[in-house]
Amino acid sequence: MHRIPRGPKRFGTLFLLFSGLVAMTVTGCSSSDEPVNDSAQLLGTILQISIRDGGYSTTLTDRAFERVAEIERRMSTSEDDYESTELLRVNRASGDEPVSVSEDTFEVLQAAREFSRMSDGAFDVTIWPLVKLWAIGSGGTSVPPEEEIDTARRAVDYRLLELDEEEQTVYLPEEGMGVDVGAIAKGYAADEAARILREAGVEHALLDFGGNIVVIGTKPDGTLWRIGVQRPDAERTRYLGIVSTSDKTVVTSGPYERFFVQEGVRYHHILNADTGFPARSGIEQVTIIADRSIDADALSTATYVLGVEDGLSLVESQDGVEAVFITEDRLVHMTSGARQYFELTDDEFTLAGG
Ligand code: ADP
Ligand code: MG
Repeated sequence: MHRIPRGPKRFGTLFLLFSGLVAMTVTGCSSSDEPVNDSAQLLGTILQISIRDGGYSTTLTDRAFERVAEIERRMSTSEDDYESTELLRVNRASGDEPVSVSEDTFEVLQAAREFSRMSDGAFDVTIWPLVKLWAIGSGGTSVPPEEEIDTARRAVDYRLLELDEEEQTVYLPEEGMGVDVGAIAKGYAADEAARILREAGVEHALLDFGGNIVVIGTKPDGTLWRIGVQRPDAERTRYLGIVSTSDKTVVTSGPYERFFVQEGVRYHHILNADTGFPARSGIEQVTIIADRSIDADALSTATYVLGVEDGLSLVESQDGVEAVFITEDRLVHMTSGARQYFELTDDEFTLAGG
């Protein structure tokens, strides 16, 4: 049966899905002129929605959260949380047969495959054998044996993933392969939640899905939203800079939420499929600014693996997407258009080339 995870999880639990949404609601608000602040625990993190327009209630935020819960039920690959999901069925049928999936799942897999291609496998939607082996954030506490890393690494190859559009089926041709959408599903879910709010007429709102932020419109007074970018080091409670924007998504990725330490080395949850080990590219933290959170989420992971040079050129090749990278040597590297959003406020960090 399902059980509540003890530590942070890549995805929440079915239990929380049915009982948690109500229990986790922090501030219910039915009065019509007040802002609505609501939260839920899903996708292995706390989701917060703040609607700043009057005239709404938690009925709307509940709908948004229920949509996220639906996405989780379809795409989670956590065997601790779910006996079965569409993606668990796909992975279990690897080397055996195609599995039909919902439009949601198909769409996310298509996007994930596109980002896999675009990043030449730095982002790889078939990373699951390695994610499962390392189990970082879901119980993993030590470096797996070399042979096992090697076997898992060889089972990762997005080019083999077969997506049949007509049948809406997914097929992994070799046993032991598996898909994982942990690096992109949160962005998709944030886009979907924001769509529900916009369609209901919301003009000023902020959605914070554990590092994936979406802002709708401006603040109610017409000024830009200001989003603090945390420091990547021990002083994470401090901001190193601020992103000012409206109608955008701001996604930050770093190695500090899911990791374990062995012999003084930190092993985190963004993996490099070539080495089979956590990615070490010199980048310590990535912030992506974009129109769609699904893109920003995927690109945050892809660039983290690619490193500064290839990461910058990947983001520069995307219309309307900007990036801010913080490297281990405390330099801040940005795409050319990022300057219009990002202001560095911490003098312990230095703008690269500037
Ligand atoms: P977070 O979930 O902390 O916001 P990411 O968006 O970078 O961070 O997603 C990390 C998750 O993506 C991992 O937990 C794992 O499920 C998956 N993942 C790890 N490495 C890769 C990779 N190279 N390509 C695609 N997905 C990955
Ligand atoms: Mg990501």
